Parts: sequence; C-alpha cells; structure tokens
Amino acid sequence: MSAIEPVIPRPKRLLTQNARLRRIGVWNWTLPALALRLPDGRTVRTCPSAGVCAQACYARAGTYTWPVVAAKHAANLAFVLDDPHGWEKAMLAELAAPRFTGAWVRIHDSGDFFSDTYLTAWLRIIRARPATYFYCYTKEVDRVRRLVVPDPPGNFRWVFSFGGTQDAELREDDRVADVFPDSDAITEAGWASQEASDLLAVLGPRRVGIPANRLPSARKRLRGRTFRTWQAETTRNRARESGERDAA
Ligand code: SF4
Repeated sequence: MSAIEPVIPRPKRLLTQNARLRRIGVWNWTLPALALRLPDGRTVRTCPSAGVCAQACYARAGTYTWPVVAAKHAANLAFVLDDPHGWEKAMLAELAAPRFTGAWVRIHDSGDFFSDTYLTAWLRIIRARPATYFYCYTKEVDRVRRLVVPDPPGNFRWVFSFGGTQDAELREDDRVADVFPDSDAITEAGWASQEASDLLAVLGPRRVGIPANRLPSARKRLRGRTFRTWQAETTRNRARESGERDAA
C-alpha cells in the first residue's frame, strides 16, 4: 500500500537562493512571515515575538506574496510541523552536497525559531554539518539565550533584531540589528550598514543598520523612526493605556 500523500506536497528543495543572497553566494531557508493558516485550519505563528516589525515587514509584500513563492514557504512550514524527523533528515541530506562545503546558509529569510523543538532541531543540523556556516536574524531573544548561548556551535552566528516584543531584553554587549529609514540615518547613528553584504550582519561590527524597505506603506508607518524607537514607543503607549484602564 502506498504511503498517504501529505495535504501540502513536500518541497522539492529546502534551500534556495533569492536574488540578493545569490549575489553573495548565500543559501537560505524560509518560512512564511508572521503567521499562516494552513489548509487544515491550523494557524501557526512563525514569528511569535514579532512586534512593530510585522507592520513594515519586507516578507509580507512584493515577491513573497506571489502564489508560487507563498506556496513554497507554506510547504516548508508544513514539512517541519507534520514530519519533523523527515524534514531534519531531508535537510541533512541536502546539506551533504559538495556545494555547501564552506558555504553560508541564512536560516530564515523570513520567519523565526517559533518553538524550542524547532530551534533544537536546527542546532542538531548545524552541529552535524560543521563544514557549512549558518547565520540568522532573530527576535527570539529568550529562546536563543536559553538554548544557544550556553553552548553555541562554532559554525553558527546570530544577530538579534529590534522591532520585537522582547526588545527590552537586549543588552549592550549583544550583536543587534535595527531598521533605519535610510542609509544616511544608519551613518548618522554611527551604526554599520549591511547593504554591501548580508553577511556583515554577523561578520561586521556589532551594531548593524538595515535601510527600511521601499514600500510606501511601510515607510509611512515607520515615520522616520527606527524599529527600536518605534517598538519602545509602542510598548510605552500600551503600558500607559493599560495603566489608565486599571485606574478607571
Ligand atoms: S520577524 Fe521578520 S519575518 Fe517575522 S514579521 Fe517581523 S520582520 Fe517579518
């Protein structure tokens, strides 16, 4: 008897290269941004610690929303959720190809480490493929501090990115990335831009500036702020509103 076919077909390839990362020879693994409702009705939050970033997210617009691209990201997520061991095995098999020796893989062009189990699976993969380098941007500050920081694999780098609900947990000595209105604002703030190569986010200076995406709606919402200042403002306003409600 043949095995039951998954509702969402398995992706043929797990690691791909978008135009920006292909230029610098980096491969990427991608999940849907923020959250996705799967055909069976499950809603999965793929960026559980997203904050204001969700309102100006590069991955919730443009090419990411093209049906073929969105379907691929949904298939990636369904594979992880429905057959985690099969996904891990398939990822390890793909990474065994000679082209990944000495290569860099960006974990999550969009999406994040949405559970402990999923991050732990990635740590097993990273350790099993020491000839490949892995990096990520993440807003999962608590999860990474608990599961990665005490014993990080030598071939893994990460940068915490502002604009999430855990921003307040970031410390002076953390490597951090922030989204700025434009390149000039990055220079004025004395941060280092990663525009020349995304790898600078983990290989360059510790304060990483990213120019905001060009979408007019995103720029309008950003209103000249950085994700860091926007998130801090939002958090303060929410605390004030909740204090006012409690006092009423
Ligand atoms: S964490 Fe990244 S991918 Fe997720 S919603 Fe925020 S900007 Fe988008």
